[in-house]
Amino acid sequence: MLFMNKTLNKKMKILTYGCQMNVADSERMSRQLSTIGYEMIDEIEEADLILINTCCVRESAEDRVYGKIGEIKHLKRKNPKLIFGICGCMAQKEGDNLIKRAPHIDFVLGTGRVDQLIKIVQNLEEKNNSELGIRNLELRQLKNSAFRITHSEFIPIMYGCNNFCTYCIVPYVRGRERSRKPEEIINEIKSAVANGAVEITLLGQNVNSYGKDHKLANFAELLTAVDKIEGLKRLRFMTSHPKDLSDELIAAIRDGKNICEHIHLPVQYGSDRILQKMNRVYTVEKYRQLVKKIRDQIPNVSLTTDLIVGFPGETDEDFNETLDFLREIKFDAAYTFIYSKRSGTPAANFPDQVADDLKHKRLQKLMDVQNEISLEINQHLQDQIVEILVECASKNDENIFTGRTRTNKLVLFEHNDEKPGDFINVKINQPQTWILKGERY
Ligand code: SF4
Repeated sequence: MLFMNKTLNKKMKILTYGCQMNVADSERMSRQLSTIGYEMIDEIEEADLILINTCCVRESAEDRVYGKIGEIKHLKRKNPKLIFGICGCMAQKEGDNLIKRAPHIDFVLGTGRVDQLIKIVQNLEEKNNSELGIRNLELRQLKNSAFRITHSEFIPIMYGCNNFCTYCIVPYVRGRERSRKPEEIINEIKSAVANGAVEITLLGQNVNSYGKDHKLANFAELLTAVDKIEGLKRLRFMTSHPKDLSDELIAAIRDGKNICEHIHLPVQYGSDRILQKMNRVYTVEKYRQLVKKIRDQIPNVSLTTDLIVGFPGETDEDFNETLDFLREIKFDAAYTFIYSKRSGTPAANFPDQVADDLKHKRLQKLMDVQNEISLEINQHLQDQIVEILVECASKNDENIFTGRTRTNKLVLFEHNDEKPGDFINVKINQPQTWILKGERY
């Protein structure tokens, strides 16, 4: 067959919206597509294949996707052979309705069918070729391995979620939890490491409940097994639901060699009344005890969290409790969000929706309090030497490179001859709220 040893020089552009799971899915799809000759490019106008990997967690994200779908219409007019597909959460939720709404979309691929991507794309290529005549595409040998491996890889270990937080659409669009087999995950990581990855992040909506569906290994056991892979230098994971973070897992992190001392532990709110309305299934006190346990066992751990303000029924009292909780726990960083109605979720129909201006005021207050805490914590790193994994040039200045500490703090330093994937020591001389500036040591 034509495509066995040689490949066609075809160009793809994948636009990714939403969470790290989507980023990981896009990487997987790009690796799959590279096996049939597609190369990733920056300029969307030159693409033979465009995929939009969508997110429907927030309605505003959906609106942005619809805007982008509209923009691609003129590219399809210019190049009728362009293959255009939608995947991710919106594809799962809306299905073929998307094609009814925008007939220039060639295919819609739900989150459970990603393994069919190649077949679908090849069918469309064949259809294009028979309808339009085979294109005179340049044949060339594949220069690199078909798989694009970077020094830092995201590996999904499970899909879906069983938790049904009342504000979240994920369980409806991504389905119930399905854990991948430990062997499959370990083999994938071994192959990524053999190809140059030094950092792995295990991904799932709630990694702590990994394995409950197949009982082959729980998350602590998986983490410990991955930690032993030769050549791996840093191991991370996200996201952790506080209700499922076990003592066994804390011990695994404490005892691990390469498991980074960072836990992203979304609390979402700081009052029991709202936590209950959110269906988070833990109390403030339980969370407090969990943090104490983690900090007792892993003394230099960094803790980050997610917080939602303006949830329906939120009162001044609830909000003040949350501020007090933040001051008490002292997270290294918090990702703060304004609650926005997501149709299809129970909370969208809750009474007492909070007025927009009040939500914004509360968000600002929350950020002010957290920023002070983050700065205070980071200032303790003044003049300290930290080991970082070099990432890339900063967006604003190519002479400045970024890297991360094991505790996941972003460090900026002046670039000399460092390459992405190098480990270097940096002396912190300017700790700030969100970043640490330093110099090579
Ligand atoms: S744990 Fe809650 S917020 Fe996270 S994905 Fe599941 S339902 Fe959504």
